[in-house]
Amino acid sequence: MKKSTEAWDQLIRKLIEDNVLHSKRIINAMKNVPRRLFLPERSIEYSTIDAPLPIGNGQTVSAPHMVAIMNEALKLETGHHVLEVGSGCGWHAATIGEIIAPKDTPRPGRGHIYTVEIVKDLAKLARENIMRNGFGDRVTVIHGDGSLGYTERSAYDRILVTAAAPDVPPPLVNQLKIGGFLVIPIGSIHMFQTLIRITKDVDGNLKKENLGGVAFVPLTGSFGHKV
Ligand code: SAM
Repeated sequence: MKKSTEAWDQLIRKLIEDNVLHSKRIINAMKNVPRRLFLPERSIEYSTIDAPLPIGNGQTVSAPHMVAIMNEALKLETGHHVLEVGSGCGWHAATIGEIIAPKDTPRPGRGHIYTVEIVKDLAKLARENIMRNGFGDRVTVIHGDGSLGYTERSAYDRILVTAAAPDVPPPLVNQLKIGGFLVIPIGSIHMFQTLIRITKDVDGNLKKENLGGVAFVPLTGSFGHKV
């Protein structure tokens, strides 16, 4: 355990040195929520390697550097109301829960993240991981098609999609607050994908920024790839 804590801290230090991680509250959250706590038994020994890892059902949990890049790009703050599309094992959502609703924040000022997963078994896995690790008061896992968003709790300050879409799903843009950020990988299945950050201004105009090349599993569902 001590060895894996040291290896995790070392990985976080490397992400800081490489300027991938720079915000104090995001660094603290990534330190406090190690990936191993959310992994299936067979992947635990690889938890501190900076690469995606299998979580079952042919899906993966993202690499730590990618979670760091997305969390920084979202400019997350305490109190934010967030939607994640693609819960996987629940680790990324838990890191966001730790940023937007730190334990010492008074309840009215605390944020919440709703995370939607289309694969029933993974939604169950994510929910169990979230509950077992004490995030049930700040992270809610929903089984469903996240390409449609989650209207029940919209609008959101921040939306992230952790699977690559052929294009930006219109329901996600509709469910984003004015001044909010949507971070989403766009591209074909398994290659030529770009991480995009979309900002919605007061007139509802969208600004798109290209944050670089990425490789994600495909988004499925109504506005996803036909796989
Ligand atoms: N954020 C995850 C974590 O912390 O483990 C990793 C996400 S994994 C790279 C992408 C996930 O998106 C997969 O679990 C996949 O089943 C899910 N997914 C794909 N299309 C979806 C959709 N339309 N709605 C919800 N989840 C979807």
